[in-house]
Amino acid sequence: MRNGTFAISDFYEEAFRAFNGKRMMPEIDVRFYPYIGINHTIRVREGRVFVRIAEICREMPPIGHQALAFILVAKLLRKKVPQHAREIYSRFIKTQEIREKAAENKRARGRKVVSTHKGVVYDLRKIFERLNRDYFRGSIPVPVLSWSARKTYRILGHHDSTHETIIISRSLDACDVPKYVIEYVVFHEMLHIHHPTQHRDGRRYNHTPQFRKDERKFAYFEEAERWIERNVRKLKKNAKRK
Ligand SMILES: [Zn+2]
Repeated sequence: MRNGTFAISDFYEEAFRAFNGKRMMPEIDVRFYPYIGINHTIRVREGRVFVRIAEICREMPPIGHQALAFILVAKLLRKKVPQHAREIYSRFIKTQEIREKAAENKRARGRKVVSTHKGVVYDLRKIFERLNRDYFRGSIPVPVLSWSARKTYRILGHHDSTHETIIISRSLDACDVPKYVIEYVVFHEMLHIHHPTQHRDGRRYNHTPQFRKDERKFAYFEEAERWIERNVRKLKKNAKRK
């Protein structure tokens, strides 16, 4: 994969050579991923090395990509991360983070403070902000975020476009519910803002193929679906017992 004038994969080959010497060079697949925020992943599958770099780092200068390559390859091979690589990379990330924060604050300014986003365990506002940053490049305008008044089990989330409100079932505000499950439900409702309802032939289309495709970009899509399938009935039973 080329980024302007340099090939990022060259840096990974360089890092492999530095750590592994003359051992065989694996095939390396480097790509940017839109949904990992400021995290990156490297893993080996069937002898090939897959590197996924957060989209936010696309504009990183070559020296930053080189540093990141040495960090990720060191981690993969369980070698010590070179100090200079760590320094260069963290310097870049800090400026990036500060820029993101500033943009976020700018967006948040002037908006009404909503008091119902804070649950007993989870804060919907925090979850929304992180998802917005990691998956939407901060492009989703902050809606009213609120936990539902009652614990509902059939409907876990709801987006009301008239009042630009996202309501999440209070049944999920519990410590035995993994964070990625709430994130997934919030993410789904955010996609409704991202993909407004389409009207065709007098019918409404909410979950368009593009919507479903984007839904799968959530990092824990499968896990969250599975958890909901297995646990929502259990949550309901527990609640009735109390
Ligand atoms: Zn929906």
